[in-house]
Amino acid sequence: MKRKTKLIHGGIVGDPTTGAVSTPIYQVSTYKQESVGVHSGFEYSRTGNPTRHALEELIKDLEGGEAGFAFGSGMAAITAVMMLFNSGDHIIMTDDVYGGTYRVMSKVLNRFGIESSFIDTSSLENIEKAIQSNTKALYLETPTNPLLKITDIEEATKIAKKHNLLTIVDNTFSTPYWQTPIDLGADIVLHSATKYIGGHSDVVAGLVVVNSKKLAEDLHFVQNSTGGVLGPQDSWLLIRGIKTLGVRMEETEANTKAIVEFLQLHPAVEKIYYPGLETHPNHAIAKKQGGGFGGMVSFDVGSQENADKLLSKLKYFTLAESLGAVESLISVPARMTHASIPAERRAELGITDGLVRISVGLEDAEDLIEDLKQGLEV
Ligand SMILES: *Cc1c(COP(=O)(O)O)cnc(C)c1O
Repeated sequence: MKRKTKLIHGGIVGDPTTGAVSTPIYQVSTYKQESVGVHSGFEYSRTGNPTRHALEELIKDLEGGEAGFAFGSGMAAITAVMMLFNSGDHIIMTDDVYGGTYRVMSKVLNRFGIESSFIDTSSLENIEKAIQSNTKALYLETPTNPLLKITDIEEATKIAKKHNLLTIVDNTFSTPYWQTPIDLGADIVLHSATKYIGGHSDVVAGLVVVNSKKLAEDLHFVQNSTGGVLGPQDSWLLIRGIKTLGVRMEETEANTKAIVEFLQLHPAVEKIYYPGLETHPNHAIAKKQGGGFGGMVSFDVGSQENADKLLSKLKYFTLAESLGAVESLISVPARMTHASIPAERRAELGITDGLVRISVGLEDAEDLIEDLKQGLEV
């Protein structure tokens, strides 16, 4: 099956009992047992629900793993994956990970003894150097948010394997349509499905796929024990969103390319971060490991004042956190998604006050470019 076909024919297609072509929303908490312990595979919806199960089977197929899991948010998914580790374990993480990931590691999970180091994983040397005797996993986000840095997943997992570390990849920005980390050697792939997978700014959800029976058993145990599951209605919305993921990603790609070409020539734009640019330091790796470069672009307009001026003029780019939806969004990472990162650390990372991040939507590229053009006028 090719990629777009898999989005529609992967997982469990339709409802085996009624023939309904879309999996129904099984709005139910518990299931009748014929006698004690004899049931149709479902007992209680925290443990398993047919709509959620259909979604979990679908994401498993899309990522090419052993089992899929759906959670109430991307952060619930990340936290559940971290619950696979023990107090005293150390995890190496990409330095400009999603702000919420940095926060949960440094302000919540640290209190339970899970240690983490944040390093620039786009350098393989840095990864080797950061490995300690208690290191158990390498957690990658690629491309990153908001600087669109790229880590070579295949080479990084080779290092991880040599040291018996699990490799975890946050694949939110690329989606399985462009990038399948398990094929490149990763053990666990996770998503904020709130973004491209849902795609319509109407659901908050998280997904995880693991590549082995052992990890599947362990993560199901955590999911059922801690309970941060996705409800049937939201599971259904994600299945619906996934059906058009391919056409959305292709269209986003084309729009983004046109916008980047425009931004490159604009005098008010000091710097552009986009892995599709040949001048991006890891363009070749991005090209090798992903089929597309995605719809996220960051650019520097020089100052907070210039950023605010741009924001006040835009018509089609909505000022909002989040990304990956049909509508184009714009944000100022330093004051929004990355506000929880201390100012001096933001400076170290290059998240300046003039940095704006856009998530290119599915409007006509001409309208989006026109909007940016009038917004950037002095
Ligand atoms: C949004 C996001 C998350 C967190 O997901 P939620 O669904 O908001 O909890 C994690 N990683 C990345 C890359 C994200 O963009």
